[in-house]
Amino acid sequence: MLDRNTSFLKKISTYRLLDTPLSDLQIPYERIAKKHGFDFIQSESNAKEVLKSLPDDSAIRQDALLGAFDVLVFATGARTASFVESESDPAFTIESIITNPVALHARLADAEEPGIGFLGGGATSVQFAMQIKDSLANKGVASRIDLVTAGSSLLPEFPAQFGQYVHRVCRAQKITVHYMSRCTQMNATSMTFQRMDGSAKKIGYDLVFNFSGVKAAPLALQCNQYGQVLADGRTLENIYAIGDCSEFQGAGSNTKSAQSAVRKALCAVEHIQATYLQTSAARAYHYQDLGYFISLGQKDAIGWLLDKRVIATGRSALAIKEAIANQFALFLEGYNTYV
Ligand SMILES: Cc1cc2nc3c(=O)[nH]c(=O)nc-3n(C[C@H](O)[C@H](O)[C@H](O)COP(=O)(O)OP(=O)(O)OC[C@H]3O[C@@H](n4cnc5c(N)ncnc54)[C@H](O)[C@@H]3O)c2cc1C
Repeated sequence: MLDRNTSFLKKISTYRLLDTPLSDLQIPYERIAKKHGFDFIQSESNAKEVLKSLPDDSAIRQDALLGAFDVLVFATGARTASFVESESDPAFTIESIITNPVALHARLADAEEPGIGFLGGGATSVQFAMQIKDSLANKGVASRIDLVTAGSSLLPEFPAQFGQYVHRVCRAQKITVHYMSRCTQMNATSMTFQRMDGSAKKIGYDLVFNFSGVKAAPLALQCNQYGQVLADGRTLENIYAIGDCSEFQGAGSNTKSAQSAVRKALCAVEHIQATYLQTSAARAYHYQDLGYFISLGQKDAIGWLLDKRVIATGRSALAIKEAIANQFALFLEGYNTYV
């Protein structure tokens, strides 16, 4: 297994970064590799160039890093979608926070009553905003937090009750939400956005996060229902893609979520085993999301389980969110409790 980083990052728990050392959210790949019996190589592959050459997989075989293989699996994930912003002083993204968490702490330490702006009204913005608000309040530090979204509600990809509930929580917590506001410029300390009526507003902050969404990196790979990559109408028999960088054919879930990533991986593994080890027949990917939980600070959460109409909030939702994170931690240790 090849990765540019030395450790696996528990992305689903990164919103806790202000209260938790980064090392607690990471597991060294060497440790995982040793436990499961594979080799780990820390290196950056020029995946974009490699993938551009598909369907001619001879180009991949010439790649110095990916050279010899029987089966190649791409799991390169997704990254913050590009956005026109200052190159010299860019807003924080999930990638930059992880690379340099100290910078985040330094910005907050310098401010008396930190003003913090979030671009995006999705799960990442909401979770980070609520967690930071609680974390600073616990230290006796007041904060001014804004969420800026082009949409008319928060969490638009979830059932409407999610946005309504979080809107009320934001009001109670004195977090300002700028709806229908399209960000036109941003850097690490300011955001300029245009409202529906055409008026523009620029607000200064101590810290700005760009959580405007992610896109498949380096590109979205179309796959059949077993995860084999499709290119120019051909199925590449020995090249698979899984997780956020893949789009499986059929009715299975292609959401960019950890649960889909795990199920796509299990589906591809089953197919590889069936093909190369002649184990039992592989099953096509048909996984449907079982639920999704969003943390709202240290005492609240919202989520749905099994049925999008069954919505839980408060401490019970928080407990389920914890259970989901623990189930994933168990999976990495080699205990597969997924249904
Ligand atoms: C802040 C945040 C919160 C989230 N919360 C949740 C949640 O609560 N529930 C949920 O289900 N999902 C959540 N998600 C989504 C979930 O984390 C992703 O869907 C999941 O991590 C996808 O797994 P993946 O393996 O496809 O990609 P990733 O986890 O992104 O892994 C991709 C890996 O590929 C490596 N890589 C990429 N390109 C190269 C290259 N060229 N050379 C070498 N290495 C490379 C990267 O270093 C990385 O380790 C969240 C995501 C974020 C960002």
